[in-house]
Amino acid sequence: MYPKIDSTMPLTSGNEAEAVENALAKINMKSALQKAIDGNQFRICYQPLFDVSSGNITSLEALIRWHHPILGVIQPNQFIPIAEQTDLVKPIGAWVIRSACLHNMALQKAGRRAMPVAVNLSARQLLDKNLTAIIGSALTNSGLNPAYLILEITETAAIQHLAQAVRTLRHLKKFGVKIALDDFGTGYSSLSYLDQLPIDILKIDRSFIEGMSEENGKMTITSAIVELAHKLGLEVVAEGVETRDQLSCVTGIRCDKIQGFLLGKPVSFYSLQKML
Ligand code: C2E
Ligand code: MG
Ligand code: MG
Repeated sequence: MYPKIDSTMPLTSGNEAEAVENALAKINMKSALQKAIDGNQFRICYQPLFDVSSGNITSLEALIRWHHPILGVIQPNQFIPIAEQTDLVKPIGAWVIRSACLHNMALQKAGRRAMPVAVNLSARQLLDKNLTAIIGSALTNSGLNPAYLILEITETAAIQHLAQAVRTLRHLKKFGVKIALDDFGTGYSSLSYLDQLPIDILKIDRSFIEGMSEENGKMTITSAIVELAHKLGLEVVAEGVETRDQLSCVTGIRCDKIQGFLLGKPVSFYSLQKML
């Protein structure tokens, strides 16, 4: 005998229903992302980084966008975490690396001043044993000098698997690429890791820059981080500079480079070609 089902009774409890909904959303997202890979729906935007002393654009950061045929442009924070959980971040990330190298080479061939392009790597990519081969072939196929490629890793990704991250990063550095530690201050913020990780650039997270003023403690802490980073031979980038006040603060504490909406928002490759 089957139990009698009351149609007003939920089939699952609140928590279970939520879990089922999340699982379905993940499956839908996974198949949509697979379609996006197959259908070439990703694009790269580039945001310029400016040198504090000269005011010139000195490098670019490649930032992915998903041009969904119905939903329009989807930002990376809305799909990279799911791509990361489902492993699809590997083919997507490999495409970003290949495209950024090809775009950089195309700019140089068109006579633009050569400058590095930075690509974000997720934790899963950092742990992928094919990563060095993927980067090696992107450089070879594009003909890009490795000195013009920067790999950005987050503190959290690097520290979760410290030994392996150090090994992979050392291997990659032998190619001649540079490594940046992204979003510094959002994870463990442990200064001791700065010495252990083979990095060249420290990117101070926007949360430090936000609300910074000459009188507050944020500025004192950030200034100490900049000083320490310089002593370790690292270049320091201030992320997310949006106002003139923030610009004068980060200049005052001797950050080397600035990235933020005040000086330049992410633009399409087409607009970048016109801008440079
Ligand atoms: P991120 O690597 O820290 O990149 C900087 C983010 O801050 C970008 O957001 C950029 O548009 C934003 N930003 C820059 N200046 C300002 C500012 O002045 N104010 C504000 N409010 N925001 C600013 P976006 O493009 O949405 O990317 C978000 C994150 O998604 C990135 O943070 C990165 O962690 C991830 N991401 C982007 N592209 C890729 C990719 O190709 N692969 C992977 N694995 N992650 C990516
Ligand atoms: Mg980044
Ligand atoms: Mg960042």
